[in-house]
Amino acid sequence: MTSIAFIGLGAMGSRMAGRLLDADHQLVVWNRSPAKARELVARGAALADTPADAARQAELVITMLADPAALRDVTEGPDGVLAGASASTTLMEMSTVGPPAVARLASLLPDGVGLLDAPVLGSLAEVESGTLHIFVGGPAPLAQRWTPLLAPLGSPVHVGPLGAGAAAKLVANSTLIGVLGVLGEALALADGLGLSREAAFQVLSATPVAAQAEKRRPAVESGDYPPRFALSLARKDADLVTDAAAGARLALPVAVAAGAWVAAAQEAGRGEQDYSAVLAQIMQSAPRGRLR
Ligand code: NAP
Repeated sequence: MTSIAFIGLGAMGSRMAGRLLDADHQLVVWNRSPAKARELVARGAALADTPADAARQAELVITMLADPAALRDVTEGPDGVLAGASASTTLMEMSTVGPPAVARLASLLPDGVGLLDAPVLGSLAEVESGTLHIFVGGPAPLAQRWTPLLAPLGSPVHVGPLGAGAAAKLVANSTLIGVLGVLGEALALADGLGLSREAAFQVLSATPVAAQAEKRRPAVESGDYPPRFALSLARKDADLVTDAAAGARLALPVAVAAGAWVAAAQEAGRGEQDYSAVLAQIMQSAPRGRLR
């Protein structure tokens, strides 16, 4: 049994914390909106007053937060995780925040505190079935020590030094965002050329986007995009990808274009919908010859 502080109990974090609790770990939790901790506390988790307080009670501190600003808010300052961490603490950053946010956290670590970045690929269903892909960055001995604990969540793979996990996650999400852009434009093209929806999906089933077309078909046909991975978070990821590419002096026009569709969808008020609602945005906007 390990004492774990779990910080950030949103859609992903609450489920991940629940699985670690089910695996008999000793959990202390903190969330900005305390109501989201209620169910975990009823199941046996302790509730901390502040992130620092949570960190003081744990060997491992896991953060699962929206974005780099949330990570800064929760880790820095007198009530932040770093204020409560000691030489026996390891931090495991599992949000999607990109390599610069991980580097900032690393630069602020008190002496002796360990840090791994371990963002996840997969959504709510994958957490619930323990089938997330987990990209771990950091020193090999630290990764070897802590990755077995992640088994209830999915399959961890050590991808390199600190920051490599965050980089791997951006690589993965660049494909999620890009494929939806391609699929949405293919559907818009089919509409524009007068193909029936049935014919369009039949054609797409024989192409490299077949699996995504099949997965997204019910939402496209019903127009209902219930949130699993919020479009506003995908917008954040699209921006992280293009910023990281610019920082590495890479020209990636496809990533920029796919990100522009996600931005247009958010600006059209779809931020709370699932990120696949970008398909509706593309099908709706493309016939008018503009992004929004
Ligand atoms: P979510 O449901 O929106 O939860 C976000 C969490 O961040 C909440 O606990 C929220 O606290 C907290 N937060 C936001 N701003 C904060 C701030 N300034 N200070 C303190 N806490 C703050 O998001 P999610 O879907 O769980 O995603 C969490 C992370 O995992 C994101 O980086 C996302 O990109 C990534 N991810 C998501 C999925 C998915 O399918 N959903 C899949 C893979 C990776 P409150 O409850 O108080 O708002």
